[in-house]
Order: sequence, then structure tokens, then C-alpha cells
Amino acid sequence: MTTLADLTTLRVGGPVGRLVDAATEEELVATVAAADEAGEPVLVLGGGSNLLAADEGFDGVVVRDTRAEIAVESQDACGGAALWVSAGMPWDDVVLRAVAEGWAGIEALSGIPGSTGATPVQNVGAYGQEVGDVVAMVRTWDRQERRVRTLAHGELGLGYRTSVLKRSLARDGRWYPTPRYVVLQVMFQMRLASLSEPIRYPELARALDVEVGDRVDSAEVRAAVLALRAGKGMVLDGADHDTWSAGSFFTNPVLPEDAPLPDGAPRFDAGPGLVKTSAAWLIQAAGFQKGFAVPGGGAASLSTKHVLALTNRGDATAAALIELARTVRDGVREAFGITLVPEPVLLGVDL
Ligand SMILES: Cc1cc2nc3c(=O)[nH]c(=O)nc-3n(C[C@H](O)[C@H](O)[C@H](O)COP(=O)(O)OP(=O)(O)OC[C@H]3O[C@@H](n4cnc5c(N)ncnc54)[C@H](O)[C@@H]3O)c2cc1C
Repeated sequence: MTTLADLTTLRVGGPVGRLVDAATEEELVATVAAADEAGEPVLVLGGGSNLLAADEGFDGVVVRDTRAEIAVESQDACGGAALWVSAGMPWDDVVLRAVAEGWAGIEALSGIPGSTGATPVQNVGAYGQEVGDVVAMVRTWDRQERRVRTLAHGELGLGYRTSVLKRSLARDGRWYPTPRYVVLQVMFQMRLASLSEPIRYPELARALDVEVGDRVDSAEVRAAVLALRAGKGMVLDGADHDTWSAGSFFTNPVLPEDAPLPDGAPRFDAGPGLVKTSAAWLIQAAGFQKGFAVPGGGAASLSTKHVLALTNRGDATAAALIELARTVRDGVREAFGITLVPEPVLLGVDL
């Protein structure tokens, strides 16, 4: 019997109805289409690294794309590199290849777990880069219109940890585990250069001993990012319970620029009239330290390296992780009047 604990990086969640590992696009689409036709719930899963699944499990079909293909469409000094990547391709393998080939723009996204198909869903980002900066278009299976549909960059509605794909999880006020659009392939457009895009993130610039705005050898950026991430438990390592997580559990709040923020809270520009602050700062300032656990909460605790990650120390349940998330969210709300929003997709559980 396969469980969601076997399929996710948090390693919690009960049994699944059935699991299909699709080896071709036809098989992937046919499985989703047949399940939709039959009214069977569908979960299209990549690496399970952005999912908190219920202890009761998921009574439907879980479909994984096992294709790991990169097709270089064109590559020249004027247009840069254009490549189609299958949804099932592990994301970090794409970054590794890009750094080796001299395709610039995703080097700071090194070490993010999961599949390429999931990257545009929440517009993954880290250390000053977002995948949306280089996504040209996404080929999808539109479950509503039952046809293959290509969404151009401008149609993707990419924003901070969001996209049309992620927003299409909600329909008729209910939550669906998989978006309306199943990602089949992603086209990336990158500049040809052995030097990185300008470093935007002060912590990364400090680690590289350069100024914000400088360009650096992309391989050095990758190495620095991987080291920074490892120090925060943000690179998967089965032996390290701090990485039995879904990464950051809460997004950084984006607020109107005149919203009152506690003294000392970081303020980042988030577009016209908006300010972004740090969820980790708020959590710590509200009194939750690294390793915090709810009394009686079993093996669920905050990471011992980073307060933003909820972790499973061994045999945590989804219920205990939700209790921990509620405690942190409510504590921050009581202290500062700001409600933190979860980043991972919640499957069969509610915060
Ligand atoms: C240690 C760690 C560090 C992390 N660091 C970061 C980080 O720095 N930045 C960041 O943004 N995220 C980070 N994450 C979160 C996560 O890795 C990313 O969101 C990743 O893109 C999820 O990929 P996945 O394949 O595991 O998605 P899954 O967890 O398998 O799925 C997540 C959602 O996407 C949907 N989905 C998956 N594949 C498809 C598809 N082909 N078509 C349509 N929908 C699909 C699923 O149905 C589900 O709703 C981290 C997670 C961990 C565990």
C-alpha cells in the first residue's frame, strides 16, 4: 500500500487510492482525463515537496510524470537558449545543466527540491531569483476544456509564490488538490553567459564577497547558494530531520505600505503601494524559537535551523503539524495583527 508519507518530503499522510507513474505525455493526459471523466479525485504529484497531506490519505488517483527530458529548441548569442523541459524533470538537474551550459538566470534557484512542472505553479523563488523570470510558456492539459493548451508568460499571472496555475486550485469555493492546468512541459528562455544574472540578495552577495548588482561565475553562485541552503536545512537530506519539511511553511506577508509593522521588522519593496515583511522575523519576534514544539505535539516541531520550516522529527502526524502551524499563526496574529498564510498545498487538511 502506497501512502502520501512515502511520496512527500514531510513524510506524513495516509494511503492513496492508486498510484500511476506515467512514462509518456499520452499516459499522463489519459490518466487525468479518465479520472476526471469518472469523477475520481486526481492529484498530479511531482516530488511532494510542497504538500501537507492528511493522515486519512487520499481516495483518488495520484499521477506522477516520470519523464526527465530537456529539449534544446534553439541556442544562439542573440536569442539565448530556449528549451522545453518535461514536467517530471527534477528541477535541480535543470539548474545543474544550465550552469554547465552557460544558461544564466536560474543559478540562484539551486537546491530547490521537486519537479520542473511544479516550478511555475507557485513561481518558485530564492535568493533574489524567481522561475517566472525565465519561463517563456507552459504547455498544459486544461482539465476544464479537456484540451492541450499553451499558456504564454503573460497569461500565467506570475506573482510572489503564485500563478494562474496555483489560483486555479480553488474552484466553486472548494479546494482541489491539483490545478485546472496540468503542466506537461515548460519552456525556459535564458541568456547565454557564464556569469550569473546580477546578484540581488544581500545575504548571497555577502557569501560571495561581492556587491549587490555584481555578476559572478554561475558555478560559484550555485555553490554559495547550496551552502547557504544547507545551513538552513533547505537541501533535502534523509539523515537530517530539519529537511523533513515542505520548505518555508508560511509566505512572507505582503501588506499595504502604510500598514503598521512592528519596530525593527524588515521592509522590502513589493510593488506600488505594497511592502513585504519577513514571516521568519515575525515568528521569532512573537516568541517562537528554532525547534519550538507544541507540548504533547509528538514529533512535529519547527526546524532547529530555521523557524519558517515545520518539520517531522520521525513519526509526526499531519494533525500535529497542523496544530503546530495554527499555534504559530495564531501567536503571530495575537502579537502583531498579521495573519500568516501557508505556502504548501494542503491536501485534506485545513489551517
Ligand atoms: C527543503 C525544501 C526547500 C524548499 N525551498 C524552496 C525555495 O527555496 N523556494 C520555493 O519556492 N520553494 C521551495 N520549496 C518548496 C518546493 O520545493 C517547491 O514548491 C517545488 O516547486 C515543489 O515541487 P514538487 O514537484 O515537489 O511539487 P509537489 O509538492 O509534488 O506539488 C505541489 C503542488 O503542485 C502541483 N503540481 C505538481 N506537479 C504539477 C504539474 N505537473 N502540473 C500541475 N500541477 C502540479 C501539485 O498538484 C500540488 O498542488 C522547498 C521545499 C523543501 C522541502
